[in-house]
Amino acid sequence: MTGSGNNTYLLAGGNGSAALIDAGTGEPRHLADLDAALTKARARLDRVLVTHGHRDHVDGVPHLARAYPSASFFKRPWPGEDSQPVAWQPMGDGESVIAGDEPLTVLHTPGHSPDHVAFWHEPSGAIFAGDLVVLGSSVMIHSSRGGNLAQYLASLERLLALAPTRLLPAHGPIVPDPATLLKAYLDHRRLREQQVIAALRAGYSDVQRIAESIYDDLDPALMPAARENVRAHLDKLKSDGMVTDEAGWRLR
Ligand SMILES: [Zn+2]
Repeated sequence: MTGSGNNTYLLAGGNGSAALIDAGTGEPRHLADLDAALTKARARLDRVLVTHGHRDHVDGVPHLARAYPSASFFKRPWPGEDSQPVAWQPMGDGESVIAGDEPLTVLHTPGHSPDHVAFWHEPSGAIFAGDLVVLGSSVMIHSSRGGNLAQYLASLERLLALAPTRLLPAHGPIVPDPATLLKAYLDHRRLREQQVIAALRAGYSDVQRIAESIYDDLDPALMPAARENVRAHLDKLKSDGMVTDEAGWRLR
């Protein structure tokens, strides 16, 4: 589910301080590349800023803590899920964190996961967007693990309102035209919601059947992901008061 792999971003200032956005997985080639980039920039790694607690973003934490014992680790708490052996520094919405010699504004952007944050570099309009967007794909909302579609849509709207110049995501290429992508994401989810409503209206009442009716000719390997997405829509419609899950899913 990570497409071409994970992006991490190293921000090194002229002051010799550097911050890494997302910790990766501890992959030896990544650690070697990071070390080479720090040497080239003549910077030391002072901070690791993590967008959220999914494994592809935090599994590298113990490796980084061993290699850079003076680095501090920042993340928004996710109670019950944060198990890495570091003393996390919590980040509140709207707080500033220093990366290199530049401030980044922490934006709490839940939905993909409850702890998700993005980092806004206001002077340039760039946003390090974590898993909020992936160019050429849609983003998983793991309803069964803290995902929440209504929150996710609100987070997309929040990014859109900031009129970012670029989005730098944790997977896939940099997004050069954020407004177009964010609006397309919002439209796509509205369309999916209409499809879920149509499936309920047609009498489908369980997640599997609804998913099969929406996702034609789906690779069976992707069916669990399709079910997660359908479930996310059903949960949103339920919280909107439009559906009930008593005796199967149905419209109110
Ligand atoms: Zn994720």
